Amino acid sequence: MSAFNREKVLSVRHWTDTLFSFRATRSSGFRFQNGQFAMIGLEVDGRPLLRAYSMASANHEEELEFFSIKVADGPLTSRLQKIKEGDTILVGRKATGTLVSDNLIPGKRLLLLSTGTGLAPFASLIKDPDVYEQFETIVLVHGCRQVSELAYGEELVAKLRDDELFGPLLTEKLVYYPTVTREPFRNRGRITDLITSEQLFNDIGQGPLSLETDRIMMCGSPAMLEELRAMFDARGFLEGNHSEPGHFVIEKAFVER
Ligand SMILES: Cc1cc2nc3c(=O)[nH]c(=O)nc-3n(C[C@H](O)[C@H](O)[C@H](O)COP(=O)(O)OP(=O)(O)OC[C@H]3O[C@@H](n4cnc5c(N)ncnc54)[C@H](O)[C@@H]3O)c2cc1C
Repeated sequence: MSAFNREKVLSVRHWTDTLFSFRATRSSGFRFQNGQFAMIGLEVDGRPLLRAYSMASANHEEELEFFSIKVADGPLTSRLQKIKEGDTILVGRKATGTLVSDNLIPGKRLLLLSTGTGLAPFASLIKDPDVYEQFETIVLVHGCRQVSELAYGEELVAKLRDDELFGPLLTEKLVYYPTVTREPFRNRGRITDLITSEQLFNDIGQGPLSLETDRIMMCGSPAMLEELRAMFDARGFLEGNHSEPGHFVIEKAFVER
């Protein structure tokens, strides 16, 4: 049996020159936990060309969704950005990853900290009813350079607010905090600075960072994750994994090659 399913592209949306998202069929046997990633890609010259991608759709959805960067000379995304409805993509049968709520010690407030396409696993997690059961408040932070790069997340949250099931949950529990570093916007600054200065907590009208009640998931650039990890380490937060849950979990949104 092949390690991949062949899935059909159902729709593609281009958000900016560097970001697009697409939906694809989902084979019935493909199971995953919200927040996980799989290897996906294209067949190129008869061979699979694959990269890690977080599922942006939730595991209760019939279709798969991915939120992708376009790297001009990237082996996969220089090709993937040209996919159209009806094309075939490969999706690895096995999903994995650390951004799952089982890897966290129970808490009250869940901070989901993302930059760029690091939003993708959280797009899945904020569509998980169990996450709303487990936490009193969920704060979704998405940092980008430009306002246009927030569009995918803004539409996602707006749609969920209108959803019959999720609308009331979001109203009660989700705080969405988009922030931009290189243009004027209502929230400005890097996530690390916003937490260190407590600006984030002041802006959302909630208490400061607390080891007792806060649990954190983060997904972004390797540099941003290192800064955040050092900051949380210094405050006594412990990293969790599959064998031992902790106060925070980390997944790289990409690796530098
Ligand atoms: C656990 C994990 C989950 C991932 N999930 C996603 C996802 O949901 N969506 C997604 O677009 N990518 C994701 N990636 C990155 C993805 O695997 C590829 O790197 C990306 O698709 C580019 O592939 P490429 O072959 O075109 O270029 P690559 O040769 O893979 O990358 C070339 C360079 O482009 C830059 N780059 C790559 N990916 C990104 C990115 N996402 N954002 C900013 N710069 C980047 C890096 O500097 C990298 O060195 C994930 C990576 C990991 C490790």
